[in-house]
Amino acid sequence: MKVLIVGSGGREHAIATSVAKSSKVEKIYCAPGNAGIAALAECVEIQAMDFERLVAFAKEAQIDLCIVGMDDPLVGGLVDEMEAAGIRTFGPRKNAAILEGSKAFSKDLMKKYNIPTAQYENFTDPKKAIEYLEMEAKFPIVLKADGLALGKGVLICQDLEEAKDGVRTIMEDKKFGTAGNTMVIEEFMTGREVSVLSFVDGKTIKPMTSAQDHKRAGDGDTGLNTGGMGTFSPSPFYTKEVDEFCEKYIYQATVDAMASEGRPFKGIIFFGLMLTEEGPKVLEYNARFGDPEAQVVLPRMKNDLIDVIEACIDGNLDQVDLQFEDNAAVCVVLASDGYPVSYEKGYPIKGLDRFDSEEGYYCFHAGTKFDEKGQIMTNGGRVLGVTATGKDLKEARANAYKATEWVEFDNKYMRHDIGKAIDEAL
Ligand code: ATP
Repeated sequence: MKVLIVGSGGREHAIATSVAKSSKVEKIYCAPGNAGIAALAECVEIQAMDFERLVAFAKEAQIDLCIVGMDDPLVGGLVDEMEAAGIRTFGPRKNAAILEGSKAFSKDLMKKYNIPTAQYENFTDPKKAIEYLEMEAKFPIVLKADGLALGKGVLICQDLEEAKDGVRTIMEDKKFGTAGNTMVIEEFMTGREVSVLSFVDGKTIKPMTSAQDHKRAGDGDTGLNTGGMGTFSPSPFYTKEVDEFCEKYIYQATVDAMASEGRPFKGIIFFGLMLTEEGPKVLEYNARFGDPEAQVVLPRMKNDLIDVIEACIDGNLDQVDLQFEDNAAVCVVLASDGYPVSYEKGYPIKGLDRFDSEEGYYCFHAGTKFDEKGQIMTNGGRVLGVTATGKDLKEARANAYKATEWVEFDNKYMRHDIGKAIDEAL
């Protein structure tokens, strides 16, 4: 089977690593890919939003299965275009990817189908939003740009002044572009955050093992929000009781709700959950693997990823017995110093070979590229995701941090406390 993966981050490298293990796969392509993915796949210089060229390439290369890793092409309808050209594709169609593409849509869906989430109101008029804040809001309060905003469209505001500024930033100054045409104002929730990725075939849902992300740039959860500085899996706070609650009120309910709306969802649903005192509530949905959550969840999966993906496409996921190793994994992101604001790139990376010979250690590339001499260079804010497994979180954490020392590049930056608070809380 010939597989095309669309995307270029650590998530796509993790997907490619799992796909490469399948005996069914004879050739992998990745568009556009990166220097790490190039060790497993032939990278083709086509950007993820260039649908016309992607479809033309898929036809010409006789791709048997296309896997779309990123949110933008999913929300933009790449799956529909691939399918129209006769290419089997894994991911939600445009009418289902809206689950991630519009927060107003997902909030309305949860309200209509009684899926636990924070109280909210949607606004298209900034004056009405400000009126609401003045008359009814309790602080802190959360403002969310409706559309995709690279994970940055959420503002937590402590008082009225900050919230009014937030409305101006999102709806008038359009800091996040058209993503801010509609805005959600949402109740602030407190609790622990857990992520659960799941496979969905339109009617059946199979949740994967849990994970937890560290979004802030600095140790102790300080500094700016980033795309994610590290993750671990499983989350010890995702207990059997939490799982049972989510199975009963959140997971299947979401899949059924989408089907009832005439938007059957096939692909990955990522549930961002807040474990509140009143029980788990949905913070957000994503319509694809999380990045870096994929880097700790996929290495723990026992099944052949291709088998599970095919079951999702064919609508027989109920036949799949999804299994994960009884171990733990930790991923520490190695970034360029200054990320997420401004940072230098173009530095050579040394020490990557070591990962080829060490079982249970992975170095997923995010922002890397080859220079003209074939040397791998830094090429982004998040450069690498160093993942290690271990019998438990403590061991996985120690292993991951040990492996971060194998790699060297100028301006290397990482958090030193991925999974640490959890270790200490146990
Ligand atoms: P990403 O796609 O990067 O996960 P996003 O832009 O889709 O992010 P959300 O996940 O909805 O945004 O929110 C980002 C973060 O803001 C959450 O992980 C959580 O920490 C915080 N947050 C969002 N909604 C709330 C809420 N109602 N109460 C408290 N915190 C919240």
